[in-house]
Amino acid sequence: MHKNNWLLWAILIAAIAGIFCGWFFGHSMTAVEWVGDLFLDALKMTIIPLIVAAVISGIASIGDASRLQRLGGLTVLYYFCTTSIAVLLGLIIVNIIQPGAGLTEVSEVIPDQVAGKEETGFIEIIRSLIGSNIIASAAETKLLEVIVFSILFAVALTTIGERGKPILDFFDGMNEVMIKIVVWIMYFAPIGIFALISAKLGDSGGGENFWREIAGVGKYMLTVIIGLTMHFFVLLTILVVLSRRGREFIINMSKALVTAFGTASSSATLPLTMECAIESGVDKRAVKFVLPLGATVNMDGTALYEAVAVMFIAQAYGIYMSATDQVVIFITATLAAIGAAGIPEAGLVTMIIVLTAVGLPMEGIGLLLAVDWFLDRMRTTVNVWGDSVGSTVIERICFK
Ligand code: ASP
Repeated sequence: MHKNNWLLWAILIAAIAGIFCGWFFGHSMTAVEWVGDLFLDALKMTIIPLIVAAVISGIASIGDASRLQRLGGLTVLYYFCTTSIAVLLGLIIVNIIQPGAGLTEVSEVIPDQVAGKEETGFIEIIRSLIGSNIIASAAETKLLEVIVFSILFAVALTTIGERGKPILDFFDGMNEVMIKIVVWIMYFAPIGIFALISAKLGDSGGGENFWREIAGVGKYMLTVIIGLTMHFFVLLTILVVLSRRGREFIINMSKALVTAFGTASSSATLPLTMECAIESGVDKRAVKFVLPLGATVNMDGTALYEAVAVMFIAQAYGIYMSATDQVVIFITATLAAIGAAGIPEAGLVTMIIVLTAVGLPMEGIGLLLAVDWFLDRMRTTVNVWGDSVGSTVIERICFK
């Protein structure tokens, strides 16, 4: 038995126990919410120092400019291809199943979660790349700004020759230290994940309420879940064909996948995703570049979900979406997924971009709210899986 298999089993059992307790004990499980938050905070605490150290040491250790360009180019190409496949898959499935057709009740108010965010658009996405104060960016966990700064820092570091050596050594060491802390935190994952899942399910009213919620939008949920499951296998095929890794890799990554389900946040899961990938033997240079960037911009699950959700809203309101409209949805859903932060329910907000582009009412988001906490967990799991597969595919192409 692999040395850490017991931990994986413990995490899986904890997740199932969490569903069971949340389902049957309902609201009383919110009593353990603080335990889940404690685990989440411990993970979040490591994110900024880990990302800064990993990105700088990863990029600077590659050194050679042409190799760096190849790594950057191929990573972006991978993100772009897999995200596009996800949106396309979503569009095909939602056109076949038509989950919104015949729905009689539609929402008439703009939900709180998105109210006042009507201005969300492409310019905001581009502006989110650079923060004027890097300390503030770090303090507010604006990961993309921190990553862009770290990339620039690392590239500059490679140009100053010998004098850069102590700085690189420092970040190398810091990276190792952070990974060590993540390993320690991971031992608390079973308790943390149990608490997160049971409290969330309990808070939403337990099993009985869950059935009631899905009664109206069950077909929509099923469409998203079928799409996400199929995309999981698309990625698996890409993984097996391109990097010749299989079962062992999935088993190793499962700890991160269950954590993604438990936290609904790619960013909070990132430290574990990196640790699991390193444990699987993926080249550290690929892990340090592909995963941090992926956690913030590569979101296959979110992209697929946005396409399905927007088409569902159109169908529910009886608004016809022509082929041209669907091309617009295809493009904007891809961009909305890139723009979504790796935090819970971020996809709901960036969906405004897609809705506005095809002239659909923002009130439609109200239809999705009740079950979004659950679908968020499902899509976050696929987001993290997409990044994980990316790290090994890029490793195979760039470093082997
Ligand atoms: N919660 C998702 C993530 O962290 C983003 C989203 O789709 O809302 O990956």
